[in-house]
Amino acid sequence: MGEKIKLENGRLIVPDHPIIPFIQGDGIGKDITKPAQSVLDAAVEKAYGSSRKLIWKEVLAGQKAFKATGNYLPQETLDSFKEHLVGIKGPLETPVGGGIRSLNVALRQTLDLYVCLRPVRWFKGVPSPVRYPSMVDMHIFRENTEDIYAGIEFEIGDEKTKKFQDFLINEMGISTQIRFPESSAYGVKPISKDGSERLVRSAIQYAITRHLPSVTLVHKGNIMKFTEGAFKNWGYDLAESEFGKQVFTWRQYQQIQAEKGQLDASKALEEAKKSGKVIIKDTITDAFLQDSLLHPYDHSVIATMNLNGDYISDQLAAMVGGIGISPGANINYQSGFAIFEATHGTAPDIAGTGKANPSSLLLSGVMMLEYLGWHEAAEHVFDAMEHTFSKRRVTSDLHTMMESATLLSTTEFADEIIRNIH
Ligand code: NAD
Repeated sequence: MGEKIKLENGRLIVPDHPIIPFIQGDGIGKDITKPAQSVLDAAVEKAYGSSRKLIWKEVLAGQKAFKATGNYLPQETLDSFKEHLVGIKGPLETPVGGGIRSLNVALRQTLDLYVCLRPVRWFKGVPSPVRYPSMVDMHIFRENTEDIYAGIEFEIGDEKTKKFQDFLINEMGISTQIRFPESSAYGVKPISKDGSERLVRSAIQYAITRHLPSVTLVHKGNIMKFTEGAFKNWGYDLAESEFGKQVFTWRQYQQIQAEKGQLDASKALEEAKKSGKVIIKDTITDAFLQDSLLHPYDHSVIATMNLNGDYISDQLAAMVGGIGISPGANINYQSGFAIFEATHGTAPDIAGTGKANPSSLLLSGVMMLEYLGWHEAAEHVFDAMEHTFSKRRVTSDLHTMMESATLLSTTEFADEIIRNIH
Protein backbone atom coordinates (compact mmCIF):
# COMPACT_ATOMS: atom_id res chain seq x y z
CA MET A 1 0.00 0.00 0.00
CA GLY A 2 1.18 3.51 -0.73
CA GLU A 3 2.19 5.18 -3.98
CA LYS A 4 4.90 7.55 -5.14
CA ILE A 5 4.40 11.27 -5.59
CA LYS A 6 5.39 12.29 -9.12
CA LEU A 7 6.16 15.45 -11.04
CA GLU A 8 4.55 15.70 -14.46
CA ASN A 9 4.85 18.79 -16.70
CA GLY A 10 6.05 20.80 -13.73
CA ARG A 11 3.05 19.77 -11.59
CA LEU A 12 3.10 17.59 -8.50
CA ILE A 13 0.86 14.54 -8.86
CA VAL A 14 -0.11 13.44 -5.36
CA PRO A 15 -1.79 10.05 -4.88
CA ASP A 16 -4.32 9.56 -2.05
CA HIS A 17 -1.84 7.37 -0.17
CA PRO A 18 1.56 9.02 -0.78
CA ILE A 19 4.70 7.37 0.60
CA ILE A 20 6.57 9.89 2.75
CA PRO A 21 10.17 9.05 3.70
CA PHE A 22 11.11 10.42 7.09
CA ILE A 23 14.32 10.72 9.10
CA GLN A 24 13.68 10.45 12.82
CA GLY A 25 16.73 12.52 13.68
CA ASP A 26 19.13 12.53 16.64
CA GLY A 27 18.60 13.74 20.22
CA ILE A 28 15.02 14.98 20.64
CA GLY A 29 14.26 13.72 17.12
CA LYS A 30 13.13 10.48 18.74
CA ASP A 31 10.88 12.37 21.17
CA ILE A 32 9.11 14.62 18.67
CA THR A 33 8.77 12.53 15.50
CA LYS A 34 6.02 10.09 16.53
CA PRO A 35 3.88 12.74 18.30
CA ALA A 36 4.14 15.07 15.28
CA GLN A 37 3.21 12.24 12.89
CA SER A 38 0.21 11.29 15.06
CA VAL A 39 -1.13 14.85 14.87
CA LEU A 40 -0.69 14.98 11.08
CA ASP A 41 -2.42 11.59 10.71
CA ALA A 42 -5.33 12.77 12.86
CA ALA A 43 -5.72 15.96 10.78
CA VAL A 44 -5.69 14.02 7.50
CA GLU A 45 -8.28 11.59 8.85
CA LYS A 46 -10.47 14.44 10.09
CA ALA A 47 -10.29 16.18 6.69
CA TYR A 48 -10.66 13.21 4.32
CA GLY A 49 -11.83 10.21 6.38
CA SER A 50 -10.21 7.02 5.15
CA SER A 51 -9.90 8.22 1.54
CA ARG A 52 -6.48 9.78 2.12
CA LYS A 53 -3.57 8.75 4.32
CA LEU A 54 0.14 9.52 4.64
CA ILE A 55 2.22 6.34 4.37
CA TRP A 56 5.30 6.92 6.51
CA LYS A 57 8.53 5.18 5.48
CA GLU A 58 11.48 5.50 7.81
CA VAL A 59 14.88 6.13 6.20
CA LEU A 60 18.07 6.32 8.18
CA ALA A 61 20.45 9.22 8.80
CA GLY A 62 22.59 10.44 11.69
CA GLN A 63 23.47 8.31 14.71
CA LYS A 64 20.77 5.71 14.02
CA ALA A 65 22.14 5.22 10.49
CA PHE A 66 25.74 5.08 11.74
CA LYS A 67 24.87 2.36 14.26
CA ALA A 68 23.03 0.28 11.67
CA THR A 69 25.23 0.80 8.59
CA GLY A 70 28.48 2.52 9.62
CA ASN A 71 27.46 5.49 7.49
CA TYR A 72 25.84 8.73 8.71
CA LEU A 73 24.00 9.34 5.44
CA PRO A 74 23.53 6.07 3.53
CA GLN A 75 23.05 6.22 -0.24
CA GLU A 76 19.74 4.37 0.26
CA THR A 77 18.38 7.38 2.16
CA LEU A 78 19.34 9.82 -0.58
CA ASP A 79 17.84 7.46 -3.18
CA SER A 80 14.60 7.22 -1.22
CA PHE A 81 14.18 11.01 -1.10
CA LYS A 82 14.90 11.14 -4.85
CA GLU A 83 12.41 8.37 -5.56
CA HIS A 84 9.55 9.80 -3.49
CA LEU A 85 10.23 13.55 -4.04
CA VAL A 86 8.78 14.75 -0.73
CA GLY A 87 10.03 13.88 2.75
CA ILE A 88 10.46 15.18 6.27
CA LYS A 89 13.27 15.09 8.82
CA GLY A 90 14.00 15.66 12.47
CA PRO A 91 17.20 17.42 13.60
CA LEU A 92 20.55 15.78 12.91
CA GLU A 93 23.68 16.11 14.99
CA THR A 94 26.65 17.36 12.98
CA PRO A 95 29.11 14.42 13.12
CA VAL A 96 32.52 15.36 14.49
CA GLY A 97 35.33 14.30 12.15
CA GLY A 98 33.08 11.94 10.16
CA GLY A 99 34.18 13.25 6.78
CA ILE A 100 30.86 15.02 6.22
CA ARG A 101 30.70 18.73 7.04
CA SER A 102 26.98 18.66 7.82
CA LEU A 103 24.33 16.10 6.98
CA ASN A 104 21.82 18.87 6.34
CA VAL A 105 24.16 20.56 3.88
CA ALA A 106 24.85 17.20 2.19
CA LEU A 107 21.09 16.60 1.72
CA ARG A 108 20.53 20.12 0.37
CA GLN A 109 23.43 19.88 -2.06
CA THR A 110 22.64 16.39 -3.34
CA LEU A 111 19.04 17.28 -4.15
CA ASP A 112 19.90 20.89 -5.13
CA LEU A 113 17.25 22.23 -2.73
CA TYR A 114 17.79 25.87 -3.63
CA VAL A 115 14.97 27.44 -1.59
CA CYS A 116 14.96 27.48 2.18
CA LEU A 117 11.37 28.47 2.93
CA ARG A 118 10.47 29.73 6.40
CA PRO A 119 6.92 30.97 6.97
CA VAL A 120 6.64 33.11 10.08
CA ARG A 121 3.26 33.56 11.71
CA TRP A 122 2.10 34.08 15.25
CA PHE A 123 -0.23 31.77 17.18
CA LYS A 124 -2.55 33.46 19.61
CA GLY A 125 -1.31 32.88 23.15
CA VAL A 126 2.38 32.30 22.33
CA PRO A 127 4.64 34.73 24.24
CA SER A 128 6.32 37.29 21.98
CA PRO A 129 8.77 40.16 22.62
CA VAL A 130 6.92 42.47 20.20
CA ARG A 131 3.79 44.45 21.03
CA TYR A 132 1.65 43.39 18.07
CA PRO A 133 2.77 39.89 17.06
CA SER A 134 -0.53 39.31 15.24
CA MET A 135 0.78 41.65 12.52
CA VAL A 136 3.63 39.26 11.74
CA ASP A 137 2.86 37.09 8.73
CA MET A 138 5.94 36.74 6.55
CA HIS A 139 7.34 34.08 4.25
CA ILE A 140 11.12 33.99 3.86
CA PHE A 141 12.66 32.62 0.64
CA ARG A 142 16.33 32.21 1.48
CA GLU A 143 18.71 31.12 -1.31
CA ASN A 144 20.23 27.86 -0.15
CA THR A 145 23.17 27.04 -2.42
CA GLU A 146 25.32 30.14 -3.00
CA ASP A 147 26.80 33.16 -1.26
CA ILE A 148 29.57 33.25 1.31
CA TYR A 149 28.03 29.97 2.59
CA ALA A 150 29.19 28.04 -0.49
CA GLY A 151 32.21 26.97 1.57
CA ILE A 152 34.99 28.67 -0.47
CA GLU A 153 37.23 29.82 2.36
CA PHE A 154 40.98 30.15 2.75
CA GLU A 155 42.42 29.83 6.23
CA ILE A 156 45.06 32.15 7.62
CA GLY A 157 48.60 30.87 7.04
CA ASP A 158 47.56 28.22 4.48
CA GLU A 159 49.60 27.83 1.28
CA LYS A 160 46.42 28.25 -0.83
CA THR A 161 45.65 31.48 1.00
CA LYS A 162 48.98 32.93 0.00
CA LYS A 163 48.44 31.83 -3.61
CA PHE A 164 44.98 33.37 -3.62
CA GLN A 165 46.28 36.61 -2.10
CA ASP A 166 49.17 36.81 -4.55
CA PHE A 167 46.71 36.34 -7.38
CA LEU A 168 44.54 39.18 -6.08
CA ILE A 169 47.50 41.52 -5.65
CA ASN A 170 49.60 40.61 -8.69
CA GLU A 171 47.02 39.58 -11.27
CA MET A 172 43.95 41.56 -10.26
CA GLY A 173 45.66 44.75 -9.15
CA ILE A 174 44.10 44.69 -5.68
CA SER A 175 46.32 46.62 -3.28
CA THR A 176 44.96 49.02 -0.69
CA GLN A 177 41.75 47.04 -0.07
CA ILE A 178 43.65 44.32 1.79
CA ARG A 179 44.41 46.12 5.01
CA PHE A 180 46.58 43.45 6.70
CA PRO A 181 48.01 41.14 3.99
CA GLU A 182 50.23 39.30 6.49
CA SER A 183 47.32 38.16 8.62
CA SER A 184 44.32 37.84 6.31
CA ALA A 185 41.96 34.93 5.69
CA TYR A 186 39.46 34.96 2.81
CA GLY A 187 35.96 33.89 1.87
CA VAL A 188 34.48 34.00 -1.63
CA LYS A 189 30.92 35.03 -2.32
CA PRO A 190 29.46 33.52 -5.50
CA ILE A 191 26.08 35.04 -6.46
CA SER A 192 24.84 34.01 -9.90
CA LYS A 193 22.14 35.28 -12.24
CA ASP A 194 20.76 31.74 -12.62
CA GLY A 195 20.74 31.12 -8.87
CA SER A 196 19.14 34.48 -8.09
CA GLU A 197 16.52 34.13 -10.81
CA ARG A 198 15.30 30.70 -9.75
CA LEU A 199 14.97 31.90 -6.14
CA VAL A 200 13.10 35.10 -7.02
CA ARG A 201 10.91 33.26 -9.54
CA SER A 202 9.82 30.80 -6.82
CA ALA A 203 9.10 33.64 -4.38
CA ILE A 204 6.94 35.57 -6.86
CA GLN A 205 5.10 32.43 -7.96
CA TYR A 206 4.40 31.62 -4.29
CA ALA A 207 3.03 35.15 -3.70
CA ILE A 208 0.78 34.95 -6.78
CA THR A 209 -0.56 31.49 -5.91
CA ARG A 210 -1.36 32.49 -2.33
CA HIS A 211 -2.67 35.96 -3.20
CA LEU A 212 -0.02 37.63 -1.05
CA PRO A 213 0.46 41.36 -1.57
CA SER A 214 4.21 41.82 -2.01
CA VAL A 215 7.70 40.42 -2.47
CA THR A 216 10.58 42.33 -0.87
CA LEU A 217 14.06 41.72 -2.31
CA VAL A 218 16.43 42.12 0.64
CA HIS A 219 20.09 42.89 -0.15
CA LYS A 220 23.19 44.93 0.69
CA GLY A 221 23.55 46.13 -2.90
CA ASN A 222 24.51 49.60 -1.75
CA ILE A 223 27.89 48.15 -0.69
CA MET A 224 28.23 44.87 -2.61
CA LYS A 225 27.10 46.16 -5.98
CA PHE A 226 28.09 43.30 -8.27
CA THR A 227 26.75 40.50 -6.08
CA GLU A 228 23.89 41.72 -3.86
CA GLY A 229 23.17 44.75 -6.07
CA ALA A 230 23.01 42.45 -9.09
CA PHE A 231 20.64 40.13 -7.17
CA LYS A 232 18.24 43.05 -6.83
CA ASN A 233 18.51 44.06 -10.51
CA TRP A 234 18.12 40.48 -11.76
CA GLY A 235 15.10 40.13 -9.49
CA TYR A 236 13.41 43.22 -10.96
CA ASP A 237 14.33 42.18 -14.53
CA LEU A 238 12.83 38.75 -13.99
CA ALA A 239 9.67 40.09 -12.33
CA GLU A 240 8.99 42.44 -15.23
CA SER A 241 9.91 40.07 -18.06
CA GLU A 242 8.39 36.81 -16.76
CA PHE A 243 5.40 37.98 -14.72
CA GLY A 244 4.38 41.09 -16.73
CA LYS A 245 0.97 42.36 -15.71
CA GLN A 246 0.77 40.12 -12.62
CA VAL A 247 3.26 42.36 -10.82
CA PHE A 248 4.06 46.03 -10.33
CA THR A 249 7.68 46.82 -9.44
CA TRP A 250 9.15 49.64 -7.43
CA ARG A 251 11.39 50.27 -10.43
CA GLN A 252 8.30 50.88 -12.60
CA TYR A 253 7.00 53.21 -9.91
CA GLN A 254 10.22 55.21 -10.02
CA GLN A 255 10.12 55.37 -13.80
CA ILE A 256 6.58 56.81 -13.80
CA GLN A 257 7.63 59.22 -11.06
CA ALA A 258 10.58 60.47 -13.15
CA GLU A 259 8.56 60.76 -16.36
CA LYS A 260 5.13 61.92 -15.14
CA GLY A 261 5.55 62.98 -11.54
CA GLN A 262 4.72 61.79 -8.05
CA LEU A 263 0.93 61.95 -8.39
CA ASP A 264 0.81 59.60 -11.38
CA ALA A 265 3.26 57.19 -9.76
CA SER A 266 1.16 57.00 -6.56
CA LYS A 267 -1.98 56.50 -8.65
CA ALA A 268 -0.34 53.65 -10.59
CA LEU A 269 0.72 51.98 -7.34
CA GLU A 270 -2.77 52.27 -5.84
CA GLU A 271 -4.33 50.84 -9.00
CA ALA A 272 -1.84 47.95 -9.02
CA LYS A 273 -2.71 47.13 -5.40
CA LYS A 274 -6.46 47.33 -6.11
CA SER A 275 -6.21 45.02 -9.10
CA GLY A 276 -4.38 42.41 -7.00
CA LYS A 277 -0.94 42.75 -8.60
CA VAL A 278 1.98 41.60 -6.47
CA ILE A 279 4.13 44.61 -5.55
CA ILE A 280 7.85 43.87 -6.01
CA LYS A 281 10.07 46.14 -3.91
CA ASP A 282 13.53 46.08 -2.38
CA THR A 283 15.16 47.05 0.90
CA ILE A 284 18.70 47.20 2.22
CA THR A 285 19.22 44.40 4.78
CA ASP A 286 19.95 46.58 7.82
CA ALA A 287 16.92 48.75 7.07
CA PHE A 288 14.85 45.59 6.64
CA LEU A 289 15.83 44.24 10.07
CA GLN A 290 14.59 47.51 11.56
CA ASP A 291 11.52 47.85 9.38
CA SER A 292 10.36 44.28 9.98
CA LEU A 293 10.17 45.11 13.69
CA LEU A 294 8.51 48.49 13.24
CA HIS A 295 6.20 47.78 10.29
CA PRO A 296 5.91 43.99 9.90
CA TYR A 297 2.65 44.37 7.93
CA ASP A 298 4.61 46.04 5.10
CA HIS A 299 6.40 42.78 4.26
CA SER A 300 4.82 39.58 3.07
CA VAL A 301 7.17 37.42 0.98
CA ILE A 302 10.89 38.07 1.43
CA ALA A 303 13.41 36.94 -1.20
CA THR A 304 17.04 37.10 -0.21
CA MET A 305 20.47 35.51 -0.36
CA ASN A 306 21.91 32.88 1.94
CA LEU A 307 23.62 34.92 4.68
CA ASN A 308 20.97 37.65 4.93
CA GLY A 309 18.36 34.90 5.01
CA ASP A 310 20.04 33.22 7.94
CA TYR A 311 19.96 36.37 10.09
CA ILE A 312 16.46 37.36 9.00
CA SER A 313 15.01 33.90 9.71
CA ASP A 314 16.10 33.98 13.34
CA GLN A 315 14.98 37.55 14.00
CA LEU A 316 11.54 36.98 12.53
CA ALA A 317 11.22 33.63 14.33
CA ALA A 318 12.02 35.36 17.63
CA MET A 319 9.18 37.82 16.99
CA VAL A 320 6.62 34.99 17.10
CA GLY A 321 8.02 32.78 19.86
CA GLY A 322 11.47 31.55 18.84
CA ILE A 323 12.97 28.90 16.59
CA GLY A 324 11.53 26.17 18.84
CA ILE A 325 8.20 26.51 17.07
CA SER A 326 9.31 27.78 13.62
CA PRO A 327 8.97 25.39 10.71
CA GLY A 328 11.09 25.18 7.58
CA ALA A 329 11.47 23.45 4.25
CA ASN A 330 14.17 23.02 1.63
CA ILE A 331 12.67 22.89 -1.83
CA ASN A 332 13.60 22.65 -5.50
CA TYR A 333 10.47 23.87 -7.27
CA GLN A 334 11.81 22.73 -10.66
CA SER A 335 12.38 19.08 -9.78
CA GLY A 336 9.70 18.96 -7.05
CA PHE A 337 12.19 17.67 -4.41
CA ALA A 338 11.29 18.93 -0.97
CA ILE A 339 12.46 18.10 2.53
CA PHE A 340 10.51 19.61 5.40
CA GLU A 341 12.41 19.95 8.67
CA ALA A 342 12.44 21.14 12.24
CA THR A 343 14.55 24.30 12.34
CA HIS A 344 16.05 23.67 15.78
CA GLY A 345 18.91 21.29 16.59
CA THR A 346 18.99 18.00 18.48
CA ALA A 347 18.73 19.66 21.94
CA PRO A 348 20.91 17.02 23.69
CA ASP A 349 20.30 18.78 27.04
CA ILE A 350 16.62 17.74 27.08
CA ALA A 351 16.62 14.62 24.88
CA GLY A 352 14.55 11.80 26.40
CA THR A 353 13.06 13.99 29.16
CA GLY A 354 9.66 14.67 27.55
CA LYS A 355 10.39 18.40 27.59
CA ALA A 356 10.82 18.89 23.83
CA ASN A 357 8.30 21.00 21.96
CA PRO A 358 7.21 19.12 18.81
CA SER A 359 5.72 22.26 17.18
CA SER A 360 8.59 23.02 14.79
CA LEU A 361 8.49 19.54 13.25
CA LEU A 362 4.71 19.47 13.36
CA LEU A 363 4.38 22.83 11.57
CA SER A 364 6.96 21.65 9.02
CA GLY A 365 4.60 18.72 8.47
CA VAL A 366 1.77 21.21 7.98
CA MET A 367 3.89 22.98 5.33
CA MET A 368 4.26 19.58 3.72
CA LEU A 369 0.47 19.08 3.70
CA GLU A 370 0.13 22.47 1.99
CA TYR A 371 2.84 21.54 -0.53
CA LEU A 372 0.82 18.39 -1.34
CA GLY A 373 -2.30 20.54 -1.73
CA TRP A 374 -3.98 19.01 1.35
CA HIS A 375 -5.01 22.41 2.69
CA GLU A 376 -8.05 21.24 4.68
CA ALA A 377 -5.87 18.97 6.84
CA ALA A 378 -3.32 21.77 7.31
CA GLU A 379 -6.08 24.11 8.54
CA HIS A 380 -7.20 21.53 11.11
CA VAL A 381 -3.73 21.50 12.67
CA PHE A 382 -3.47 25.31 12.69
CA ASP A 383 -6.84 25.67 14.40
CA ALA A 384 -6.14 22.96 16.98
CA MET A 385 -2.68 24.37 17.80
CA GLU A 386 -4.04 27.88 18.21
CA HIS A 387 -6.73 26.53 20.51
CA THR A 388 -4.14 24.63 22.59
CA PHE A 389 -1.85 27.67 22.92
CA SER A 390 -4.73 29.99 23.78
CA LYS A 391 -5.70 27.61 26.64
CA ARG A 392 -2.09 28.01 27.84
CA ARG A 393 -1.42 24.30 27.68
CA VAL A 394 2.19 24.12 26.55
CA THR A 395 5.56 22.33 26.74
CA SER A 396 8.29 23.42 29.13
CA ASP A 397 10.07 25.89 26.78
CA LEU A 398 6.93 28.06 26.54
CA HIS A 399 5.74 27.27 30.07
CA THR A 400 8.58 29.28 31.61
CA MET A 401 7.50 32.36 29.63
CA MET A 402 3.74 32.15 30.23
CA GLU A 403 1.82 33.11 33.33
CA SER A 404 -0.57 30.52 34.80
CA ALA A 405 0.11 28.02 32.04
CA THR A 406 -0.28 24.24 32.33
CA LEU A 407 2.87 22.22 31.72
CA LEU A 408 2.51 19.31 29.29
CA SER A 409 5.04 16.73 28.15
CA THR A 410 5.81 16.27 24.44
CA THR A 411 3.25 13.51 24.00
CA GLU A 412 0.62 15.16 26.23
CA PHE A 413 0.90 18.31 24.11
CA ALA A 414 0.47 16.32 20.88
CA ASP A 415 -2.48 14.39 22.38
CA GLU A 416 -4.10 17.68 23.39
CA ILE A 417 -3.83 18.94 19.79
CA ILE A 418 -5.32 15.68 18.52
CA ARG A 419 -8.24 16.06 20.95
CA ASN A 420 -8.78 19.60 19.66
CA ILE A 421 -8.71 18.37 16.06
CA HIS A 422 -11.52 15.94 16.90
P1 NAD B 1 19.64 23.30 19.61
O1 NAD B 1 18.59 23.92 18.76
O2 NAD B 1 19.69 21.82 19.62
O3 NAD B 1 19.44 23.77 21.13
C1 NAD B 1 19.47 25.13 21.55
C2 NAD B 1 18.59 25.32 22.79
O4 NAD B 1 17.20 25.26 22.39
C3 NAD B 1 18.77 24.21 23.84
O5 NAD B 1 18.64 24.78 25.10
C4 NAD B 1 17.60 23.26 23.58
O6 NAD B 1 17.19 22.55 24.74
C5 NAD B 1 16.53 24.21 23.09
N1 NAD B 1 15.61 23.55 22.14
C6 NAD B 1 15.88 23.23 20.83
N2 NAD B 1 14.82 22.64 20.27
C7 NAD B 1 13.86 22.57 21.22
C8 NAD B 1 12.52 22.07 21.22
N3 NAD B 1 11.96 21.49 20.16
N4 NAD B 1 11.82 22.14 22.38
C9 NAD B 1 12.35 22.71 23.47
N5 NAD B 1 13.61 23.23 23.54
C10 NAD B 1 14.35 23.16 22.40
O7 NAD B 1 21.04 23.91 19.13
P2 NAD B 1 22.53 23.44 19.48
O8 NAD B 1 22.61 23.03 20.92
O9 NAD B 1 23.38 24.54 18.98
O10 NAD B 1 22.82 22.19 18.54
C11 NAD B 1 22.81 20.82 18.98
C12 NAD B 1 23.10 19.92 17.78
O11 NAD B 1 22.07 20.07 16.77
C13 NAD B 1 24.43 20.18 17.07
O12 NAD B 1 25.01 18.95 16.71
C14 NAD B 1 24.02 20.93 15.82
O13 NAD B 1 24.94 20.76 14.77
C15 NAD B 1 22.69 20.31 15.50
N6 NAD B 1 21.77 21.15 14.68
C16 NAD B 1 21.01 20.52 13.75
C17 NAD B 1 20.09 21.25 13.02
C18 NAD B 1 19.26 20.52 11.99
O14 NAD B 1 19.33 19.31 11.91
N7 NAD B 1 18.46 21.23 11.19
C19 NAD B 1 19.92 22.61 13.25
C20 NAD B 1 20.70 23.23 14.24
C21 NAD B 1 21.63 22.48 14.98
